[in-house]
Amino acid sequence: MKKLFSMLFSVLLLASLAAPAFAVTAVGGEVSEDGVVYDLPYAGIRVTFPQEFAEAEGVVLCTQRGKLVDRDLYAVSFVYYGLSPEEWEEFDELESHKQDLTEEEYERWTSLGMQNAFLPGFLACEDESEVESYKQYSAEVGCPYASVIKLGEADGYMFFYTEDEITKIETLRPQYAEEYRKLAAAMKEAAPKAEFFAPTEPEDPWTGRVLRFETTDLDGNAVRSDELFAEHDITMLNFWATWCEPCKRELRELGDINRRMQEENCAVVGILYDEDDEETIELAKAVLEENGVDYMNLKMPKSLDEAEIAVTRPTSVFVDSSGVIIAPVINGAFVNLYEAGFRELLDGTEPAAADAGADAAEKSSMNAGRGIDYLALVNKLNPLPDGWEDALETVTITNSVGDEVEVEKKAYDAYLALKEDLEENEGIYLELDSARRSVAAQQDIMDRFIEKYGADYAAKTVATPGYSEHHTGLALDLYFKLKDDNGEFTDVYYNEDMVRYPEIWEKIHARLADYGFILRYLEGREHITGYGYEPWHIRYIDSPEIAKEIAEAGITLEEYLGAATNALEKIDLGKSEIYTEEDLRAASVQVLCKFASFEGCELHNLRYAGDESCTEENLKWMNELNEDGNYTQAAQFLMNFHSPKEQVGVWEADREYTDYGWWLARGEGSGWEVVTQGYG
Ligand SMILES: [Zn+2]
Repeated sequence: MKKLFSMLFSVLLLASLAAPAFAVTAVGGEVSEDGVVYDLPYAGIRVTFPQEFAEAEGVVLCTQRGKLVDRDLYAVSFVYYGLSPEEWEEFDELESHKQDLTEEEYERWTSLGMQNAFLPGFLACEDESEVESYKQYSAEVGCPYASVIKLGEADGYMFFYTEDEITKIETLRPQYAEEYRKLAAAMKEAAPKAEFFAPTEPEDPWTGRVLRFETTDLDGNAVRSDELFAEHDITMLNFWATWCEPCKRELRELGDINRRMQEENCAVVGILYDEDDEETIELAKAVLEENGVDYMNLKMPKSLDEAEIAVTRPTSVFVDSSGVIIAPVINGAFVNLYEAGFRELLDGTEPAAADAGADAAEKSSMNAGRGIDYLALVNKLNPLPDGWEDALETVTITNSVGDEVEVEKKAYDAYLALKEDLEENEGIYLELDSARRSVAAQQDIMDRFIEKYGADYAAKTVATPGYSEHHTGLALDLYFKLKDDNGEFTDVYYNEDMVRYPEIWEKIHARLADYGFILRYLEGREHITGYGYEPWHIRYIDSPEIAKEIAEAGITLEEYLGAATNALEKIDLGKSEIYTEEDLRAASVQVLCKFASFEGCELHNLRYAGDESCTEENLKWMNELNEDGNYTQAAQFLMNFHSPKEQVGVWEADREYTDYGWWLARGEGSGWEVVTQGYG
């Protein structure tokens, strides 16, 4: 049963024409007054389907497939699932862990998943002959079109409406079959009213990510991806199955390509993405031998199955010697692209298949020359330098708890070396919790908090977008795994757990400088960094020499760069009977952090208002302002600053603001907070 179903899926994939340029992106439509709007930039179409779509009993899935791999053709498909919302939810849940279903769950998943039928779709192209040749190809592979109707032209493109001859409507239960017919008819009526424009191309979601796995070859010998990839400059992974005819047809040529490319220190590695039983493995070996394949073949690693990198069979993926995917993934059998791919990558250009991801490729080659300043200071006072995000080159990995982490490329290599050193010499198993967060992502978090909790709360709890070191891709938050006597690993992941292992952190910190890292938020330096002690937050500076200098001096990056004194020069801490200089310094840094978000304003000076501001009355007032505060101490600061020449935000243009007030408070054992600010 299992194998049969896989075969059926291969037919389905062929029916959906087995060659999307990208991993399938499901996009829902948006419900509006007029019906459901589908905005489909990858096919250059915006179309509104009537209200029936919003009220459908079943589920309509829209897939923008973008540009097809070997064609100048853009496609959109719609699939109808004849499932109730509860059944859909169940299907979705089973689908999410389909690699570990019980026999019973598997039956259920297949019986739900099969109840789908193809709705009409759209094609776009610049040259009409592309459509003709695609029609012919579809008929040859057994999925002919019933009709292809030209809808219109725009921006030099032609747009077509398509209906399949084989819709699979017979897999639907009667009430759903009826709805399917109604929806299909409604689509036909709405299609000519669609808006058309030049298609854009999605970025390839895989390029730049790192593949890491452990598996065995077909004889059961253990294979680790890092060792495997390190042997060659470029490795092409080819995912295939014994039931997949297009896969088998290209094996002989793949064997030849591998032999030719060996001279250039490149290799093909097969990955059998099929059933895992003895019978299938023996069959696979026979097929390989028959086709003269002598390159290594591996069993499908579980992690790659879960990552869904191979949405079709075959799928081919180029990686470099550290496992970074260096070209858009090729979905489908395109044997003429493989050797060209190797050769173009060796020349430093992108392979032919990369047409589809040309944007991304162009961006990364543009960036290669520009580079970033590995010593850049980004903190609560200093924003991410302009142009940083364009120049940044990153890799994305999946950590031990299944989260995706994006890291600057060189920082990641250095991290791997540090990790290996700690594993081998200290028995400490490092993992990456989080690294890069884009400014846009931080802004998203800020916007959501403002919407949910209001601006005041958001400003207090969310780091100001642009002012987090995590934007650089060079700041890494670590965690580690502990290995017990039975060789079992436990993730030590939460901050409150991690701080219980100072002896482990000490060992980690001792090795940071060797790999060009520094510990960023030191104990007792909150008044300079603006952050309390974080043993897990490290920063890559690309120079073991400077890192050693900083570590030996026991100073922060601010102090090394002289930035601390610059920023703090304008502060007058006055005299206090209540607070130490360090207390007041820490409070003033909190004020400066907030002031950093006063766009375009120039600080003239900041001064402590004196101990007379720390009265019971003021404390009571601040505890009323923030009921969660539990404040026990208060302080006031006064500031002079100048607003920008052109009006920005709430500030009058070009004006000197004097004695602008800042009220701070803190509770037992916690840091200073700015509770309120302003005149009055
Ligand atoms: Zn951090």
